[in-house]
Amino acid sequence: MSEVSRAINEALIRRIEAAISSATVRRSAVEFDWPECHAKRCSHRHGDVDAAFGTMKYSIMQAVRGELQYELTTRPDIADEDDTPEQTAVYTLATLLQRYNVRETSTFVKAAQLIVDAYPALIPVLGENERAA
Ligand SMILES: [Zn+2]
Repeated sequence: MSEVSRAINEALIRRIEAAISSATVRRSAVEFDWPECHAKRCSHRHGDVDAAFGTMKYSIMQAVRGELQYELTTRPDIADEDDTPEQTAVYTLATLLQRYNVRETSTFVKAAQLIVDAYPALIPVLGENERAA
């Protein structure tokens, strides 16, 4: 595999992982299928763990599809008509950091890599600041 296609695949893998990370399900969508009772010969209804997992898988599939088709995770369209370009940039970056569940240093690097992948125009700008400092 060439370096270029390997790099593209890495970027694609990061996008898919970010989409999976951003997938959520509402508690109400799964709670009645979440088995909690361990009583023997209990006659109550106990839900269907396959149904609960199916709901989660569907959410993950929708997130991956939305990212691959529309870049919903890595290039979220969250601008309001009245927003200034600066507000749009700030809200977009804030949304991205939240979606990537930034909690630890390695995750910060992953999130930053995804943002740079999505907005390559940042590279010369941030590189220029580094040299000027
Ligand atoms: Zn029971």
